[in-house]
Amino acid sequence: MFESLTDKLQGVFKRLRGKSSLSEQDVNDAMREVRLVLLEADVNFKVVKDFTARVRERAVGEQILEGLNAPQQVVKIVSEELTALLGGEQAPLTFSHQSPTVIMLCGLQGAGKTTHAGKLAAMLRKQGRNPMLVAGDIYRPAAIKQLEVVGEQVKTPVFTMGDQTDPAEIAKAAVDKAQRYGNDVVIVDTAGRLQIDEALMDELRRVKAAVRPHEILLVVDAMTGQEAVNVAKGFNDALEIDGVILTKLDGDARGGAALSVKTVVGKPIKFVGVGEKMDALEIFYPDRMVSRILGMGDVMTLIERAEAAIDQKQAAEFEKKLRANKFDFEDYLEQMQQVRKLGPLDQILDMIPGLSGKVPKMPGASEESEKQMKRVEAIICSMTVQERREPTIINGSRRRRIAAGSGASIQDVNRVLTQFEQMKTMMRGFSGKGLGAMPGMPGM
Ligand code: GDP
Repeated sequence: MFESLTDKLQGVFKRLRGKSSLSEQDVNDAMREVRLVLLEADVNFKVVKDFTARVRERAVGEQILEGLNAPQQVVKIVSEELTALLGGEQAPLTFSHQSPTVIMLCGLQGAGKTTHAGKLAAMLRKQGRNPMLVAGDIYRPAAIKQLEVVGEQVKTPVFTMGDQTDPAEIAKAAVDKAQRYGNDVVIVDTAGRLQIDEALMDELRRVKAAVRPHEILLVVDAMTGQEAVNVAKGFNDALEIDGVILTKLDGDARGGAALSVKTVVGKPIKFVGVGEKMDALEIFYPDRMVSRILGMGDVMTLIERAEAAIDQKQAAEFEKKLRANKFDFEDYLEQMQQVRKLGPLDQILDMIPGLSGKVPKMPGASEESEKQMKRVEAIICSMTVQERREPTIINGSRRRRIAAGSGASIQDVNRVLTQFEQMKTMMRGFSGKGLGAMPGMPGM
């Protein structure tokens, strides 16, 4: 996510931090660099201009230039202003207390509406709500079927009336049914087009008038850069949206759309899509996003993912074992499988302060790490249960057998064994501090 932006901003800050005091000229130079970096990331020109002017004004105006930590303070101002640019506070969904809450999703074709209807339903179900999905795209062949497949994946009922009924009527009937059946949220998927056109906007306005949504969320594809912002502006002018779901941030989007949309359109990003799977949806927190963009990691999101994915009882059990020096390869294997549930490795690494942006991202690097994890897993799986419980019995001939069984070299096996021991030693040092649940990965 935003790798090149992060890299380049860190470069600018590193040069700033290298100075013991700052002159006005230093600030001007740094802001000129920041400006170029943001323009390259495809951030809207006017947004960039106002942003750098504001940072400059504050940096000079707050008379921090002579201060001891002037460079750090400039970085702090940049971080605060970026957060403001992204909307400041997290913008929550509005829920209705009497009737079912109606969420209408709109957007161009291929932006990710249907996928995100499913992801939203999954998230709401996790929060204890009882959503219903509504197939309101009656034009695209297979759109209804696609929503039905998604609905099945996230165990959410899908309301459809086929492709011959007017979408406004479908939406209305769906809300009536939800009321009767106790579904407290109705998520309406709507038709998209390749471009904004009057016929589409007309239809969406009729759907809006028919069900008076509590939330109109616009789904936009971050990969389209500035175009995403233009699209958002067009939809907002026609429909008055409440917020944006920015999708495909897991790809190599340069970040321009994320950084421009709130300022240009005036509507907050409420969610971001970070993958094709149904759990790849994040609530958008401006401050956390800035932390990631500035290469400072995002511990809060990591902790939340860990809480959702990791079995707490088991983690406590692991920690006890670590302390008693009884942590063995059986535990390790289980733990590795839990860590996997946190998501793709490169996304996790990006959230860890200090590692964020530091792990080289060559094309295929993430797949290489995943492959290495699989290799370690294969080695552990080739051990007998006894060997996993008592790694000390693994002598030369056992090592050869394990290597042959897992398709690894003896050196690989040796490395996993050595690093496992090192990790245990290291984790014993940490275990009193509550970090026992997350040891590093031997073999990597
Ligand atoms: P719609 O036409 O707006 O309903 O778009 P779809 O929901 O059919 O999505 C279009 C394509 O984008 C599909 O192949 C999705 O799997 C993919 N997609 C949607 N959201 C994301 C995302 O956040 N990340 C990635 N990588 N792909 C996504």
